[in-house]
Amino acid sequence: MIEWRSEARASGSRTPRCSSRFLVTLGIAAILLTGFSFAAGAGEAVRPRPGVARNAWDEDIAAKLALEREGAVRAGRDVVLWFPKDSLTDEQAAGIVARLDRGVHAAKLRIGKPGWSVEGDRRVHFYCPATHFISHAPGGNCAFIPLWRMREDESPWLHESLHLLLATRAGDWLALEDSVAMRRMPLWLMEGLADALAMQVCEEEGLAYFSPLLGDRPDQLDSLAADALRNAPSDSVLAMIGERGKLPQLFGPDRVRYAVPFYAGSASFTRYIARRRGYRPLLRAIADFDHENERLWRELGEPLDRVKSEWLASIGLGSQVSFGTALPPQRSMDDMHGDCDHFSWNMTREMDLWRGSVVTVRAGSTPERAPGVRLDERVSVTLAPLPQVRFVVPPGKAPGSAGTWSGLLVFTPPADGIYRVSAGHPVWIDAVVNGVGASSQRFEMQTGCRTIFKSIAFAFRAGEPVILQVSGSSLDTVALLVTRWSD
Ligand SMILES: [Zn+2]
Repeated sequence: MIEWRSEARASGSRTPRCSSRFLVTLGIAAILLTGFSFAAGAGEAVRPRPGVARNAWDEDIAAKLALEREGAVRAGRDVVLWFPKDSLTDEQAAGIVARLDRGVHAAKLRIGKPGWSVEGDRRVHFYCPATHFISHAPGGNCAFIPLWRMREDESPWLHESLHLLLATRAGDWLALEDSVAMRRMPLWLMEGLADALAMQVCEEEGLAYFSPLLGDRPDQLDSLAADALRNAPSDSVLAMIGERGKLPQLFGPDRVRYAVPFYAGSASFTRYIARRRGYRPLLRAIADFDHENERLWRELGEPLDRVKSEWLASIGLGSQVSFGTALPPQRSMDDMHGDCDHFSWNMTREMDLWRGSVVTVRAGSTPERAPGVRLDERVSVTLAPLPQVRFVVPPGKAPGSAGTWSGLLVFTPPADGIYRVSAGHPVWIDAVVNGVGASSQRFEMQTGCRTIFKSIAFAFRAGEPVILQVSGSSLDTVALLVTRWSD
């Protein structure tokens, strides 16, 4: 690795290829770069030729030229670092290049592109002007990162490199008309995969992962994603994860409020897929330009929607819908050993219905044979011995010995909303929607109440059948009641 200073100018530099809107700028660039020469003495290498910037912003081109003309440069095996003269010591620059080299090289191997190159140049060029802007890698082999971020190692340099490394010859979303990309580009996959891979490579290489949006703790990504999505300013954020298109608010004044749930959610979802199925389906999908989502569906062998539901359930957002009902905070189990008067929820309606008529049903031992239960109708459910029951998903709590009783019911919600499933004595209840366990939103229990022992709140969508899996009952019948949240 040799550092060159601006006094040494190289000749024969190539004009960076770029989208047509920058041709004028680049025309000037070409003039300025003419005669960019370097008098190579004995043992001296040639100053690296500039990076190839595609889809770059006007200010990128200006900054790039300034660094190429007057800046310092240090090249490694897989990267070239361009920075303002005297802004980094030799030692700092060497340390940064070593770090970048390590990560970029590992990333190339990780994605199966060891020979990646742009116009014959196998290196990623990092341009680091001493100004403030959002790190980005518009295309070609150039990433633009603010100098201070690079110096402090607080930059998403690996994420940006991955955008470049993952680019496909089949097409370039950033080069298209924005109105087309707005509708068709699978932004969730482009951003999510760059992040998931950056985390993976950092972990494998012992590098510090950094993202200005996601914090620096990959092990907290899922909980960050769940929190951010739960508090997202609009349902459209979650809706766009796994879909084609760009969320318009990501490019407006409210950017940060939308960006955190979108980026965290996209990275969490992509990483979930990679952990279950490896990176291959994702890499094949992103290489199949303009068919990315469909390709991913094919590679995974199941609808992306279903995988998304499983992911949401895995981060505690199963049936992630609150329908505007503000639920009270979850109470501690320590507060749940009172009698019927100690429920913190308003259980008046449930208690009234409990005193009314009762319908007797025999629970199914398979989902296909599960009988229906209706809203506001107390049922006395005859259960089956545990070994006879085939659950859709393993019960959330181990159902105990073979001596316990279990069974399945089905409930079809008449409307979107929060529903309570109440039981007369201790049983475990899982709700399963589309083959995926739905996380409960809240639960209440009063161990001293002889009528309703516990009640569990779930968010259900209208018309989507819910399999209620009852397990772990010490009695062969249990009273159940499904009601709407009434507070
Ligand atoms: Zn990105």
